[in-house]
Amino acid sequence: MAKITLKDLSHSYLTKQSNDADWALRGVDIDWKDGGAYALLGPSGCGKTTLLNIISGLLKPTKGKILFDDKDITALNPVERDIAQIFQFPVIYDTMTVYDNLAFPLKNRGLSKTEIDTKVKEIGEMLELTSTLNNKAAGLTADGKQKISLGRGLVRSDVNVIMFDEPLTVIDPHLKWVLRSKLKELHQKINRTMIYVTHDQIEALTFADEVVVMHEGQIVQTGTPVELFEKPKHTFVGHFIGSPGMNILPCEIVNGQINFEGKILPNSTNIIKTNFSKTQVGIRPEFINFSNEGIEVKIKRVSDTGRHKVIDTECSSGSIKILANASAEIPSDSAYITFDQKYTYVYGDDWIIE
Ligand code: ATP
Repeated sequence: MAKITLKDLSHSYLTKQSNDADWALRGVDIDWKDGGAYALLGPSGCGKTTLLNIISGLLKPTKGKILFDDKDITALNPVERDIAQIFQFPVIYDTMTVYDNLAFPLKNRGLSKTEIDTKVKEIGEMLELTSTLNNKAAGLTADGKQKISLGRGLVRSDVNVIMFDEPLTVIDPHLKWVLRSKLKELHQKINRTMIYVTHDQIEALTFADEVVVMHEGQIVQTGTPVELFEKPKHTFVGHFIGSPGMNILPCEIVNGQINFEGKILPNSTNIIKTNFSKTQVGIRPEFINFSNEGIEVKIKRVSDTGRHKVIDTECSSGSIKILANASAEIPSDSAYITFDQKYTYVYGDDWIIE
């Protein structure tokens, strides 16, 4: 197990770079504690796999350093780094039994038969593979095979870190949550540093103690699921996390206050710097209330999700989504709304102004 530090990592697949878009990763700084559960979250193309491949040693970064327990390992090859990596699609030996698949990484490391047997049975039990240990892997379903892949990564105790690259892609939706909670439970049991890469916010938020949100090759925020939800530091985090995502609308800063729709919004920030090319107000649908006064909106549509109602409204600055209890009375035509001051944020050029 190891503490992992990434220092000012940048990577470009091009030989020459002239602008930000030429970089797949830009200025990534990370400190991951030994034994922590982390997720890298972001949409397709944001640089997650590039970062994972740099940590595993498959890619050499254009700039920056990787340290395991404060030791610079940037020049080491993948084998020397002692990492277990689990990919999107199962990597197993079909002709071997489930037992032999799990035992394989341990045999390679010269563990005794008894040690191997103990470990294989322990991991087999954790992943509920005990009854299939003597079956050929070929006969298993896709999720059974992926469980073996997970087991092959988890069975080794000599690894610095276990990395999962979208490991639940091939799993049936109804089984996803089973494996997701299993992984969380396994992390608590074996207490190794784990990095989980995904574009799925639910997977990231349920697995990790700390989530790193990536956007266009940059880290836009690192935080606990609650921090990312309650205080997005970048408009992208607001959009990407939450369902529906945060409402982000143009506003003006007048004398240090937020002017939205011709009204001053209550806000706890003292806004000093104002030379942004764009300023926006951000409020999550959960933190908007109907009121007798405030911002006037037109009700466009009400969708009932069972537990909640999602109300699509419109004002002259754009559309605003509101989340209300399923039992709430919703005005039918126009209404006034207010924003909860505690969760009203202002963004200058997409970054939170604090
Ligand atoms: P996905 O979830 O689709 O795999 P990702 O977040 O893992 O996306 P990366 O695969 O790391 O993102 O890609 C980051 C950027 O680097 C993208 O713009 C991608 O097109 C580019 N890229 C990735 N691999 C290569 C490569 N081998 N050569 C050139 N460009 C690449």
